[in-house]
Amino acid sequence: MPISFLETMEGPLVDRDGRAHHAVLDLRCESGRIASFTLDGLARITGTFSAGPWADAAACEGTLEVRPVRGRRLGYTAEFRGTDNARYRLVGVKHPNPLRPLASMTTLHTRLLREGECVAEGILRFEWNTLGAFLASWRPWHGMQTQPMTAPPRHPDLPGPEPLDPLERRTMHALGEALIAPGVKVPPLDDETVEQAIAILAFLPGHLQLVFRAALRALDAGARLRHRQAFAALPLDRRRNLLRDAEGLGTAGAAATLLLGMPIKSAHFARREYLDALGVPDYRNPVREKEPRWLQNHTPAEALGERETVVDADVVIIGTGAGGGPVAASLAEAGLGVVLLEEGHYHRREDFAGDPAERLLRFWRDGGVNSTIGNAPVVLPLGRMVGGSTAINSGTCFRTPDDVLQRWRDEGLPEDFAPENFARWLDLAEAELGVEPGDPAWLGRIAEAVAKGADALGGIHGPLRRNAPGCDGQGLCVVGCPTGAKRSSDVSWVPRALKAGAALFTGLPVTRLLMRGRRCHGVLATGQDRHGAPRTLEVRAKIVVVACGTLHSPVLLARNGIRLPWLGRNLSVHPAVGVHALFPESQGQPWRAIPQSYGVEGLVDPRVRFEGFAGPPQLTAPSMTLFGEELTRWMDRFDHIGQYGFMVCDDGNGRVVPGPDGRPLVHYHVDREATALFRRGSAVLSEMLFTGGASEISTGIDGVGVIRSIDEARAIAARPLRAHHFRLMGFHPLGTCRMGSRPDRGVVDPDHRVWGTTNLHVIDGSTIPTGLGVNPQITIMAAALRAAEGIRDRLGG
Ligand SMILES: Cc1cc2nc3c(=O)[nH]c(=O)nc-3n(C[C@H](O)[C@H](O)[C@H](O)COP(=O)(O)OP(=O)(O)OC[C@H]3O[C@@H](n4cnc5c(N)ncnc54)[C@H](O)[C@@H]3O)c2cc1C
Ligand code: SF4
Repeated sequence: MPISFLETMEGPLVDRDGRAHHAVLDLRCESGRIASFTLDGLARITGTFSAGPWADAAACEGTLEVRPVRGRRLGYTAEFRGTDNARYRLVGVKHPNPLRPLASMTTLHTRLLREGECVAEGILRFEWNTLGAFLASWRPWHGMQTQPMTAPPRHPDLPGPEPLDPLERRTMHALGEALIAPGVKVPPLDDETVEQAIAILAFLPGHLQLVFRAALRALDAGARLRHRQAFAALPLDRRRNLLRDAEGLGTAGAAATLLLGMPIKSAHFARREYLDALGVPDYRNPVREKEPRWLQNHTPAEALGERETVVDADVVIIGTGAGGGPVAASLAEAGLGVVLLEEGHYHRREDFAGDPAERLLRFWRDGGVNSTIGNAPVVLPLGRMVGGSTAINSGTCFRTPDDVLQRWRDEGLPEDFAPENFARWLDLAEAELGVEPGDPAWLGRIAEAVAKGADALGGIHGPLRRNAPGCDGQGLCVVGCPTGAKRSSDVSWVPRALKAGAALFTGLPVTRLLMRGRRCHGVLATGQDRHGAPRTLEVRAKIVVVACGTLHSPVLLARNGIRLPWLGRNLSVHPAVGVHALFPESQGQPWRAIPQSYGVEGLVDPRVRFEGFAGPPQLTAPSMTLFGEELTRWMDRFDHIGQYGFMVCDDGNGRVVPGPDGRPLVHYHVDREATALFRRGSAVLSEMLFTGGASEISTGIDGVGVIRSIDEARAIAARPLRAHHFRLMGFHPLGTCRMGSRPDRGVVDPDHRVWGTTNLHVIDGSTIPTGLGVNPQITIMAAALRAAEGIRDRLGG
């Protein structure tokens, strides 16, 4: 388990002429593993150092050597290039004293050497103002991953972050051999795949690494229990049998096998020789744009010069997705002073290039593998970047159904929500996003198969409406549109806001709402500069808008003392499943089409909506339950695969609470009614695809697997399948700060103000009172535009 913390020390250094110079040392200390740290007492340090004429925020790097018992010392050594370009070395030591623990551990006796010669010395002390940041920074694992998939720089003397121990590495290799069999196009597994898979694992946050390691250990323990041999020592067929058995072990088994397959499959099916054999492009040619002028209003955390920056605004908005983006544009254009704060980064068009699996790891929060706790794991992907989840969504646009709006009216929400009134804001959102049906040229062959099948079964079908005018079917919407055709918030609302004068700060997760009684007078965000040293930004504002999304907004409120009965409750996720269909004839280039192009309704039940999904092989393989020769048979013919799925409208029985490390912990129960709809929906989905020409369908359902006929498809409806037999995903979480006409009915009032506060608003998916049954981004944006009008009227913008 890796370990890291941040520390700031400052004080005077006295030069050889007796002059004192103020010095500040901002450090991040980290060690690959607690175990190795305990044994060798070595950690790597990086950070910045400023002191008199010698250094001005110079990047420094070195080691921390901890010998508290034997040597009674903590030694800090860091090297940097000074302002005169000479090599400097900072040598500091703390002498732990059990009689004076606090004083001795916060005093650093420091010497500064220039080219080996001492130029100044003095005592730096722990900066007590930074105690909060210091305490918050202690992590037994990497908390916030902000870097792309490049290995962090290693200090030559130290073990780098290595997520697996030798036994786990062997098990991982053996697991890879069980998952991947060589084929015509599929290359054999080798060390390159395993190393790349381990690099993917190292990128995931620590808690997921722990779960992964536990799953590997459990696999090995299972092998020892059953065969008295390590998993790595078993012949291939026994390893595969064990994997199959693990899948059948209820919810935990389903979750563990899903997670175990992910890194190896992503890594292997991203191998160039395989993709070349299929003709899949490398996506390495970025679209380059001239830097737009409005980007001058963007400040990443790394560029914050001061350790603490304070900014004043009329309105501060936390989050830049479907909720935050429209509010920012609307208020900035009304002439109000708007500050937008975003935890993720702003990505230029040229960043939306390169391997899709690598991009997924960078843009999807926690690599997209977070899931719910409950009777069946539901994977909940979210975007963490400017644009939020809109930057990685499929671009499908639905207006809020009239019956849903009517239900809200019946619950006491105002006239604005009557269908004829709410239409005004829906129109505005659709106009900004350029919503229109997908171009027939890029619907993909799957649309033809679905249309034929839906016709035969009596479904209503057609191209889905999308926010991507000018889309040329690059097929990568969920890892960021490379051409900018998809008008996600980073392309539409946020630039509009910045053009109108709003300021955008990125890489700055907000951790504190500065509450004084019923009023929130600002927010505090903490980020890091490029050396890992802390940077804090305080924004004071008349109005504070929380727009962190359905999973994060309730957690931020709860962690800042908001207590309301509905907070975190009422979560709906619109659970979804998908199947892979093999067609006898090639589907052309299934990766070169709109991934979610075609919709079907009117089959099974009004709560069931069929929509597609698709992606290149490295995004597809991890979602497939197949492995070994069966997987290879499919992946060798990847151009024959079509993908399609459906979602079930749910009623909000989930709950979000603050979990360890400030992350949302999501409880969700797939009820019997929804499970029945998954059974019937899967049967109809498979029948539709067989009728449309598919010859085999990999259902992804435990115990059903691959089916080859309409009879087998129909039989799914009658099988005793439970929720955990399905591989579920939830792309549309809503409702955890629901709007209610009274404090006992919701978290925010009809103006989106948190009940019991005067100026704290929530404007995002979390305020949507009920599940919608359709893709929600247009509803969230329309509600946000309405809420912004209210704020504008109140502030007189
Ligand atoms: C893969 C995928 C496909 C989807 N496809 C569709 C689709 O086709 N059509 C559709 O209508 N919907 C789709 N959705 C759903 C849609 O994108 C979301 O419902 C919508 O973006 C939610 O808006 P939001 O503002 O609530 O949250 P988000 O858009 O997720 O924005 C929240 C933002 O807040 C930031 N944030 C969180 N916490 C903090 C903090 N403490 N400090 C600072 N910033 C913070 C996050 O980084 C994020 O940028 C899809 C979603 C996913 C993940
Ligand atoms: S299909 Fe491609 S071009 Fe079209 S919106 Fe998606 S990513 Fe952009």
